[in-house]
Amino acid sequence: MFLEQKGNKTQKKGWIEVVCGSMFSGKTEELIRRLKRAEFAQQKVEIFKPAIDIRYDDENVVSHVGTSIRSTPVPSSGNILLLANAVDVIGIDEAQFFDDELPEVCEKLANSGIRVIIAGLDMDFTGKPFGPIPDLLSKAEFVTKVHAICMHCGDLAQYSHRKTKNEELVLLGEIEEYEPLCRKCFNLVTNR
Ligand code: ZN
Repeated sequence: MFLEQKGNKTQKKGWIEVVCGSMFSGKTEELIRRLKRAEFAQQKVEIFKPAIDIRYDDENVVSHVGTSIRSTPVPSSGNILLLANAVDVIGIDEAQFFDDELPEVCEKLANSGIRVIIAGLDMDFTGKPFGPIPDLLSKAEFVTKVHAICMHCGDLAQYSHRKTKNEELVLLGEIEEYEPLCRKCFNLVTNR
């Protein structure tokens, strides 16, 4: 934990980190790795996710490779402010599904001395910036873009192509519904 002298009182210094990328890029694994490392250093860690994400487990953030960490599902980003008591680090998974207040909530948390680590999809299945993520990318001190492997050609992939025709934006995905694609292959299959 970085400490900063302000006048004669010592204050904790907070900041915002974003880990973003397509589906199957290892965002959640990277979030869990950072959070477990903080826990190992005896820091108090809290993890939140949108209550909408009920894919695997009500209480755990679980990655595709099966690593997990206990988390609290919340209906809106405002709940994170209410529940973040005396913590050093806050993790937020599937951040793209949160409301537009999330960037402001994260700034308040960071300003109060908390390290905030956000994981989320940066683009939806059509290739458009997703929910509050673009705003968070500009407000964060640190941004990490992780990549999947293109299912068609093996290059690095940044798009989450939806193979089914369902047009609903919030469709939580598994390997049967989505495939990571590179720019060239995404443009080919979507006729962009
Ligand atoms: Zn490709």
